Amino acid sequence: MRTAFLLFLLVVGLVPARGADWTLLKHDGRDYVTLDNVAEFYGLGPVRRVSNAVVVGGGPRTLRGARGSAEFYINNLKFILSYPLAEAGGKLLVSRMDLTKVIEPVIRPDRIRGADHIDTVVLDPGHGGHDAGAVGQWGREKEYTLDVACRARQILIQHGFKVHMTRIDDRFVPLEDRAKFANQFSHAIFVSIHFNSGGPAASGLEVYTLAPQGVPSMMSDGPRITDLQLCRGNSRDSENMALACATHAAIVAHSQMYDRGIKRARFVVIRDVTIPGVLVEGGFLSSAHDSRLIASTAHRQNMAFCIAAAAQNYRNAVGPQTAPVLAVDSVRLREIGESPESGVGKKNSEPAVVLRTAN
Ligand SMILES: [Zn+2]
Repeated sequence: MRTAFLLFLLVVGLVPARGADWTLLKHDGRDYVTLDNVAEFYGLGPVRRVSNAVVVGGGPRTLRGARGSAEFYINNLKFILSYPLAEAGGKLLVSRMDLTKVIEPVIRPDRIRGADHIDTVVLDPGHGGHDAGAVGQWGREKEYTLDVACRARQILIQHGFKVHMTRIDDRFVPLEDRAKFANQFSHAIFVSIHFNSGGPAASGLEVYTLAPQGVPSMMSDGPRITDLQLCRGNSRDSENMALACATHAAIVAHSQMYDRGIKRARFVVIRDVTIPGVLVEGGFLSSAHDSRLIASTAHRQNMAFCIAAAAQNYRNAVGPQTAPVLAVDSVRLREIGESPESGVGKKNSEPAVVLRTAN
């Protein structure tokens, strides 16, 4: 019990969804709300607590987490919060930063203020030229990223999107130039495609969005002075998170990649883009499991389709629905040569992130 930290209460000036207000709690010098308040505001249902673990709501609108942990699940999709869940007065707390920058845009993307209707996707195949990126047993990052981007471009064009690429061949493009290139397009989103490298045990998918102002990058050892600067991409914090959610959900649901979560960083390309942007780390070329998958044409085609499906889902989530959700499963079955009757093989449980939420 750390009720001593409950220094004062105030009501946030947000429009309540169901007659509920926000009550801010000051805890360790930071603003928090209780998960009970979150449940009430969004009408999610009961808050169930077993020891340190907590589950809010049920069915397709479930939040899950644990005291002291930054791993937080919204409808089975993993988010790495900027601050771990805290506890005060016997209640679990989520930071105001994570409420406004993660939970709100994921649960109610249709309420993101100023979100553009999109018709354009800027694809950014990572690395190129003298910069090979990570090197796996069967290939190099710069070739895989270009291959996935070219495949995604084709699918997106087939579905009515305009597509631009920061590079279309094996050339080096400075990071700042990639962002500058993307920023000339309006009604557009930016998807940077990378593959990862790490220790022998590291594997799985990560999707990065720009860290909000004041939040440490998860790629740094601790807080830095640069955490305090407002980056150009911060004007799209909410859209960035909704796009990350759509992208991560599509790939996690339709690949054999371990879910490492949606994370925060200040990589140059997502820092400098002024359109909604994400950076996908589509598995570790240093991992035997991941590198074998990434080397498979079928997997890269599937990943490309997931990127296209995410663009479509994002477009539908933030604006009026103009096109049906892409049927990822049927395409995947064809690509990997399975007959529909044979089932989908190993498939992660559907995160079922329902981006559009009835209020
Ligand atoms: Zn890379």
